[in-house]
Amino acid sequence: MLEFEGFVDVHVHFRDPGVPEAETTASGLAAAGAGGIAAVVVMPNTSPAIDSPEAVRSQLAAAAAAGSETLLAASAAMTRGRLGREPADLEALAEAGAAFFTDDGSYVADDRVMEAVMRRAAALGMCVCQHAMDPAVQAGGVVRDCPLARRLGLAVIPPEAETAAIRRDLAICRVTGCRLHIQHISTAQGAELVRDAVKEGLPVTAEATPHHLLLCCEEIPGDDANWKMAPPLGNREDRAELRRAVKDGLFMFATDHAPHPAATKSRGFAASANGIIGLETAIPVTWEVMVRGEGMSPAAWARAWNELPLGILSPSVRARFAGRPLTVVDDGAAFVADPEKFASRSRNCPYGGMEFRCRASLKGRQ
Ligand SMILES: [Zn+2]
Repeated sequence: MLEFEGFVDVHVHFRDPGVPEAETTASGLAAAGAGGIAAVVVMPNTSPAIDSPEAVRSQLAAAAAAGSETLLAASAAMTRGRLGREPADLEALAEAGAAFFTDDGSYVADDRVMEAVMRRAAALGMCVCQHAMDPAVQAGGVVRDCPLARRLGLAVIPPEAETAAIRRDLAICRVTGCRLHIQHISTAQGAELVRDAVKEGLPVTAEATPHHLLLCCEEIPGDDANWKMAPPLGNREDRAELRRAVKDGLFMFATDHAPHPAATKSRGFAASANGIIGLETAIPVTWEVMVRGEGMSPAAWARAWNELPLGILSPSVRARFAGRPLTVVDDGAAFVADPEKFASRSRNCPYGGMEFRCRASLKGRQ
């Protein structure tokens, strides 16, 4: 048994308010706890979006009412309604307790809006997190170029959809000095851009999801939307580069836990919603890939789950998260993923039947 400062997942979607049949705050926190995740940050792409101080406070109230061991913080939209047209009231959102700003699920395409957001966030000492996928370059693509895409004639997403977005944001980071976090990096070129930016001394961080580290587009077994997400799975070279960035201590882990009702994931690659659940498999998957597969030390691996994610949070959230439980990893326990048994309300998961060689749980502080 290994005991660590509690693991923090800075990227989860609980569908509250909006789609309670997919996930509520209570079911999402139960899933996090079942997976050994001690604290989470929820994304603001709920319905309606979390773009007001009242919405931030109601997220925190819902978490308090759930009475879960896992702590919750809310991120807030950086633009009103997550529409990308004008900055949200960032000062009031920070005051209400937002962990950071993001329009996750959408890229803020307007350069002037993004620059205005980053200037104001910099003045507040807050981090801005970007869903780096430019829809103008994505052009309706649903998957990276791979055998499945060719067989089914699916529209392909070029890696430049990600790299164009990252390049633009790095340029704004350079002139504003705002802390910038790139969410769910999926391409080798994107990882390289972040690596160079850090070398240059820019205040930039990034995350990799368990699924982008374990899976790749060449392995997609068929027209099964449990392998469809945004950004899409990269190819083998992308995956190798993401693993290298985690191993070098450059990237943190984050799940992008994205629950969906079965009906919206049963229409194949072309028409289904993006995203998979991940809270109950994240620790076993990253252990398998990075510790067993890549030889990362458990301490360095844990740092990508606790110290690095804490670094992008507002000081007040970081202080509150100091009271989170510990994460305990049993590296002798085998675990066959069975989505039917998950605490999450959703089942959209590509890991069913896969065996992992560790289990994680929470332990309260004395
Ligand atoms: Zn996203």
